[in-house]
Amino acid sequence: MKIYANAENINLISSMISKGREPHSIAICGEKGQGKKTLAKYIAAMLLCQNGQAKPCGVCKSCKMLEHNAHPDFITAQANENGNYQVDTIRALVSDAVVKPNEGRFKVYLIPDLDRSVSTSVQVQNILLKLIEEPPAHCVVILTAASKQTFLKTIISRVLCLTAQPCTDADSAEFLRGLNKYSESDIRDAIVCGHGNIGRCLEFLEGDVLPAAFEIASGCSRAMLARDEYEILRRFFSADGKKAVFRQSLVFLSEIARDACAARLGIKNRFSCCPDTAAGLAGMLNEETLRELYGLLCDYIAKVDSNCNLTLTMNSLSGEICGVINKPA
Ligand SMILES: [Zn+2]
Repeated sequence: MKIYANAENINLISSMISKGREPHSIAICGEKGQGKKTLAKYIAAMLLCQNGQAKPCGVCKSCKMLEHNAHPDFITAQANENGNYQVDTIRALVSDAVVKPNEGRFKVYLIPDLDRSVSTSVQVQNILLKLIEEPPAHCVVILTAASKQTFLKTIISRVLCLTAQPCTDADSAEFLRGLNKYSESDIRDAIVCGHGNIGRCLEFLEGDVLPAAFEIASGCSRAMLARDEYEILRRFFSADGKKAVFRQSLVFLSEIARDACAARLGIKNRFSCCPDTAAGLAGMLNEETLRELYGLLCDYIAKVDSNCNLTLTMNSLSGEICGVINKPA
């Protein structure tokens, strides 16, 4: 069983297991695509492996069943299509948790993406609280969310909180090559866009939003270098009517501005999808202007989230960007 990055998380869990002090409730936080569910499954494998080694052996019956998502003692809660958990689903899970495991020593319950359960996250956590406070000896609950903020204080104070760690570009490449599905040039583009976030790389290869947003962000950032307001607006308008694409292009642009700002401060950072234009902007604008540009882009991401009129927003943003980048130094 292969997992990328997360060495610290795995060492911690493994040392707890070896001392017989298995954690009974874990929260895994980290951005979308960073492998929270993969880490949860790996932890389940560590707990359920029949060979009792520090790493799941990958060959025992338990590891095989987990690999095929068919282990009866690894139970993943299902949300509805909007990401919300039904209260009844979680109540049923809590009742099931008192029943002894089918195969091994533990029963591991995964409740992923609690942050997406916008309308029931609090209710769900209150239902889980009893189980987390007094778990049966065989029960392990793993919750995941994009950020710690999702969790109630009563929950976060009782769980082992882990942060999913990003992997390297080389890890992402190895993973994508292993799928035997993509050309080398597609893999290269996906890694430029997603870096150590394998989920983001896959979304780039399979989805519609990321490639379109990447196209806009790279075109827009080149237009910024040329101080070409018309071209910035033209690029934005290619996302007209496509809120998700426009929003993601702003996320990419904010990352470019952040990288440029870091470069200006002499910090070698590389989170953004366009390292060349980030370096160009760092050479063209001073630190204060880059900070202002970053802040402006973040403000507009919030505006898009608050359901503004997209066309008007694109118009005013391109004007404001030019106002910032054309300021006399
Ligand atoms: Zn095993």
